[in-house]
Amino acid sequence: RNRVSARIAGIAESATLAVDAKAKALKAAGRPVIGFGAGEPDFPTPQAIVDAAVAACQDPANHRYTPAGGLPALKEAIAAKTLRDSGYEVSPGQVLVTNGGKQAVYEAFAALLDPGDELLLPAPFWTTYPEAARLAGGVAVEVFAGLEQGYKVTVEQLEAARTPRTKALLFNSPSNPTGAVYSPEEVRAIGRWALEHGVWVVTDEIYEHLVYDGVRAAPVVAEVPELADTTIVLNGVAKTYAMTGWRVGWMIAPADVVAGAANLQSHLTSNVSNVSQRAALQALTGDLTAVARMREAFDRRRRLMVSMLDAIDGVDCPLPQGAFYAYPSVEKLIGRTLRGREITDSATLAELILTEAEVAVVPGEAFGPSGFLRLSYALADADLVAGVERIQHLLAEVR
Ligand code: PLP
Repeated sequence: RNRVSARIAGIAESATLAVDAKAKALKAAGRPVIGFGAGEPDFPTPQAIVDAAVAACQDPANHRYTPAGGLPALKEAIAAKTLRDSGYEVSPGQVLVTNGGKQAVYEAFAALLDPGDELLLPAPFWTTYPEAARLAGGVAVEVFAGLEQGYKVTVEQLEAARTPRTKALLFNSPSNPTGAVYSPEEVRAIGRWALEHGVWVVTDEIYEHLVYDGVRAAPVVAEVPELADTTIVLNGVAKTYAMTGWRVGWMIAPADVVAGAANLQSHLTSNVSNVSQRAALQALTGDLTAVARMREAFDRRRRLMVSMLDAIDGVDCPLPQGAFYAYPSVEKLIGRTLRGREITDSATLAELILTEAEVAVVPGEAFGPSGFLRLSYALADADLVAGVERIQHLLAEVR
């Protein structure tokens, strides 16, 4: 018999965390590594939120469990925030507060997918989706959208991938890893297709406030209101309020789905940390000035990074309109030689960039298709420039 169950042994390590760990190990060994791997804002959590958490710590009432599904006041704030930011009404009873957006992803798939049910997964995709779908017994069906289509899938592609087993579509705009943002028209077309064919939509809107160039991240349910009964919205405070370490996310779903997911969570983790929920309550009932300031910094770094990357021979880097990642294609470098080694795929290239230039980037393989790199621009301007300059100098040697 297996010592570790087949189900658990089959989980792939999070490649993004692996790159980060390797970079940190090199750093700890004294190497001047510059890391573009992390998926988190470099800013501290805004002071008012920290203050609310400190005050919450002082009140013994907050040293206790909350209801497993979340503090009632926080659920109300999430419903109010959804109306403010997405423009449609949900009831607090449709909200489940989760340990980060990540737990909401896992619980959404667990609540929706029976063994063999297919999840349409636009690729490149965030590395957690296929693993969470598989753990739930589902089958992730990748639908590839490359650089030439702006990393965005079309209705035609989705329809070609649909089978009688298709249960749901994963939708993530702005996207991690590509930064792509679907236009309202594109969201509407995909939403109507899903509605027409009875395909559930799991929409991860965690980067909703990180958009540039005046574009708008259109919420699926705002564009196609009839989808409300077959949509699960995933979100959280991590990216908008620089609160990655606090672990507060949520799902919004029809009552039956929320009830099922809440039962699962009641056995899995119970409630999210009470103090973290109080901090999230402060974040969601406050205004959006902090994220506006972060967005300005990200926007500046985005332009800088993309122009520097795109200037490299063999690297094609589109200007992403959301999140905080650049996602260049390096397909033209595959098969060529760098410091005596053949660049067989983007994983090899990322490894060479780490060992030869001491810069950590995440290879496309972490997000499905090979041939790409992901670089986060959530780091200080000076480090950003120094890191990309190192990549420029190294890749100038490609033969
Ligand atoms: N969804 C996407 C697309 C993400 O990139 C992340 C974090 O990297 C999450 C969800 C989950 O974030 P958290 O669990 O920190 O709330």
